[in-house]
Amino acid sequence: MTEASAAPGRRPIVPFLRLPDDGEPHLVGQRCPACGATYLGHRIACSKCGGRGPFAEVPLSRRGTLWVYSIVHQSFPGVPVPYVVGVVDLPEGVSVRCNLIDVEPRPDAIRFGMPVEMTTGVSQQDKQGNDVVAFYFRPVPGA
Ligand SMILES: [Zn+2]
Repeated sequence: MTEASAAPGRRPIVPFLRLPDDGEPHLVGQRCPACGATYLGHRIACSKCGGRGPFAEVPLSRRGTLWVYSIVHQSFPGVPVPYVVGVVDLPEGVSVRCNLIDVEPRPDAIRFGMPVEMTTGVSQQDKQGNDVVAFYFRPVPGA
């Protein structure tokens, strides 16, 4: 899969988000061929075994577990608050920093260890008029 997998007019906000024409958006990791450790983002060496690759791109699960979160009450001008940021652990051993959506920004509405799933949304338009697509995590309905 390549960068060209993004449909014309849509661009991922981060290089590790894939927007395939024929499947669900997903994150990708880089897997060490020597030990199997998986990382988010480009790697030149493995921090677990020292392997130097080449690293293979692997699709990451769209579901994970909320490891930690914080409710943000103060942000840049124009950014609505409060909102929830978190770190989600994926089954591949990757932790993802993200915004958590579709949840009330109250401690009693969020719990550590809750199952979450990835979703995407258009966060802005770039100067060329493309939709810039961001990823978010949200609670798994009914879980
Ligand atoms: Zn390794």
